[in-house]
Amino acid sequence: METHVATAGAAEHVHHWRIEEARGPVSRGTCKRCGAEKEFKNWIGETDFMTNEEHRQAA
Ligand SMILES: [Zn+2]
Repeated sequence: METHVATAGAAEHVHHWRIEEARGPVSRGTCKRCGAEKEFKNWIGETDFMTNEEHRQAA
């Protein structure tokens, strides 16, 4: 993302991800310590997607 923030020493701590409620294939997590953002895949949503694909192929 373009919103990358170069934070000195950011890699020296364990990110404390606070992840949004799952509403789609990915959820955005924000580090409570440094404010870094990262997207986390929601595997449950992906399982749903795969199920739909299987239905489509079977039809
Ligand atoms: Zn962090």
